[in-house]
Amino acid sequence: MAETTDVAIIGGGAAGCAVAYYLAQSGIKSTIIEREGLGNQASGYAAGGLNPLTGVGIPGPLGTFAWECFQLHMDLYPSLKDQSGIDYQTRKVGKFDLALEESEVAGLRETVELFQGIPGFEGRWLEPAEIAELEPRVSPNVLGGMYDFGNAAVDSHGFTNAMAAAAEKMGASIRVGNVRTLESKGGKVDRVVLADGEISCGQVVMAMGPWSRRAESWLGVYIPVDPLKGEIIRLEKNGEPFKHDIAGGGGTIYPKLDGLNWCGTTEDWKGFDREPSEQVAREIRELVVRLVPDLADAKIAKHTACLRPVTPDWLPVLGRAPGWDNVYLATGAGKKGILLAPGIGRSVADLITTGETALAIQGYSPERFATELD
Ligand SMILES: Cc1cc2nc3c(=O)[nH]c(=O)nc-3n(C[C@H](O)[C@H](O)[C@H](O)COP(=O)(O)OP(=O)(O)OC[C@H]3O[C@@H](n4cnc5c(N)ncnc54)[C@H](O)[C@@H]3O)c2cc1C
Repeated sequence: MAETTDVAIIGGGAAGCAVAYYLAQSGIKSTIIEREGLGNQASGYAAGGLNPLTGVGIPGPLGTFAWECFQLHMDLYPSLKDQSGIDYQTRKVGKFDLALEESEVAGLRETVELFQGIPGFEGRWLEPAEIAELEPRVSPNVLGGMYDFGNAAVDSHGFTNAMAAAAEKMGASIRVGNVRTLESKGGKVDRVVLADGEISCGQVVMAMGPWSRRAESWLGVYIPVDPLKGEIIRLEKNGEPFKHDIAGGGGTIYPKLDGLNWCGTTEDWKGFDREPSEQVAREIRELVVRLVPDLADAKIAKHTACLRPVTPDWLPVLGRAPGWDNVYLATGAGKKGILLAPGIGRSVADLITTGETALAIQGYSPERFATELD
């Protein structure tokens, strides 16, 4: 029998699964098409930080949307956990951003202010003695640091799968398959062509993460999303557990609920290379040992590498594809795709169901790149 769906969602990362979830909430059945397993790319191996107050474009063009997404995450967790049966462990975290050089002190002291006066958040400067008291394993060479509390963290693989599982319970389908192209009639895509079949559809959502450019030739639309490789080494616990995330000098240590200290994260433009590199593992180790010297001996339990979907302006690409009546883009979330996923899902589902959304995605339209086609 011919396969058919109301909405075909290409890509089962955080973006695609979130669109399926919010469509299902509106009573629309979708099919998530994924070739390598749900949340098995960046969406499964991200550090899982939900940091709405800092990062590229914050404060700035990503600020309002990042904050909306953070609120969606906080509201969603209890119900999504119950609905899906997956506890993806959303929790608030405290973090130290440490100064290793005198030149870093002023910038960190300024960043403290971003966390002050915001309900649920706090930020203050810590002197070296306070740091030593709170995290005795931190290097005695640090010059002080910023403490912030209020950001959150999730298990990103669990979160992505929770979205998909809840959507499935509400009527969505998951289809294992590799999409090869799209077929269309009169400005509308009516079929998704896979390596092993075809699916007729009413609408299509392109949520292909760093592989989004593949759809440029299918749609004749410029989709400038490029892969930014990131690696994380997970170190076995080798002493007292850390109570805070600890960052500084380009390295970060995330003590995770799996008992491991996730350390990273790197940023390399290396095309679609997804191989973990031993050289990079050594570099990450050197960075985190400057923060906590006794991590020098901790054994690597796991080493992962995956790709972030990044646009030229570091903002997501959300909305209807130029020139198409029934094709939507949900991609380009860059370094913040776990934080942004609920907002991506909700806004794209809103556009499909009502043609508008209350979320602040005005600056992220695919149209902003349309001139590049000329
Ligand atoms: C090291 C690292 C740390 C990170 N830390 C954080 C963090 O702390 N907080 C945060 O918010 N974000 C973080 N991110 C970013 C976040 O992981 C990404 O922005 C997010 O996962 C992107 O989700 P996505 O669904 O757009 O893409 P992906 O997760 O890449 O999903 C796209 C999916 O599409 C599928 N696909 C592509 N083409 C096809 C096709 N033709 N047919 C079928 N399937 C297809 C792929 O197999 C893939 O599963 C981090 C990323 C990295 C690499």
